[in-house]
Amino acid sequence: MNLRELIELEQKTGQPFHEVILLTQMMEDGSDPIDLRKKMKVFLETMLDIAEKNFAKSQKTLMGLCGENASVFAQHLPQMMGEFNHMTTIVALSIAEANASMGKIVACPTAGACGVVPAMVYALRKLKGVLEESLVDGLIVAGAVGACIAEHASISGAVAGCQAEIGTATAMASSLAVYCLSKNSDKVSHAAALSLKSLMGLVCDPVGGFVEIPCVKRNAVAVNIAIATAEMALAGIQSVIPFDEVVQAMAKVGKSLPEELRETGLGGVASTKTATSLLEKIRGELM
Ligand code: SF4
Repeated sequence: MNLRELIELEQKTGQPFHEVILLTQMMEDGSDPIDLRKKMKVFLETMLDIAEKNFAKSQKTLMGLCGENASVFAQHLPQMMGEFNHMTTIVALSIAEANASMGKIVACPTAGACGVVPAMVYALRKLKGVLEESLVDGLIVAGAVGACIAEHASISGAVAGCQAEIGTATAMASSLAVYCLSKNSDKVSHAAALSLKSLMGLVCDPVGGFVEIPCVKRNAVAVNIAIATAEMALAGIQSVIPFDEVVQAMAKVGKSLPEELRETGLGGVASTKTATSLLEKIRGELM
């Protein structure tokens, strides 16, 4: 099923969009909607707990290529950013650095992109007072957006580049925010499409194959893109290219990416002079 078909079902049945998603899932694989909602609540509570525990923390990461970004950013008095963007950026950095330190995370949709959705969830709860039940509704909608991308394209950096990981997380975070703040499924689809288009073609180029550079900072930038696309969709700005067509385009772009740009650590920033000397230094220290 694609997102447009889900929206049409919502219009036909008059049921809330998140309920339509749960009922569709039940018809597809027999999942109990009550159980699914309970699972989403556990994911939500875990995300909030992880965000709280890691907020602005210094971390010792596996390769030592990052670990201080969240702490440094939290001490910085923003010159241009508002409070919402500042908080989401700190949380995205904190959780991505926790992942690089082998800490507990919720892969959403993947470990590499684990900071984006929880950062949005955390700031909506803390700064906008969005209730947990509404955030669960938002997570169900974000899950459907992610599932559509997984079914019709990919959510794997190794298959379709970082557009599939960070791009999908951005579309999910943006959709979640729009649904929590408007309950409007049409605006959700525009937010998701605007997000994916913004990150179309993004390559997967982790230095040494480790999820540290550029992954950690990409999570932080991505949540700011999600805020911008959500705000545009809430304002009524539409994506001329519908979400489901953007997903098809993304799948084609993913297929055309060479192997060096799909999580092999051989291309993009991973192939720079600085990356090569950093890895030589690490190898030397390990020997
Ligand atoms: S660069 Fe690759 S490993 Fe890093 S977040 Fe993106 S898809 Fe994941």
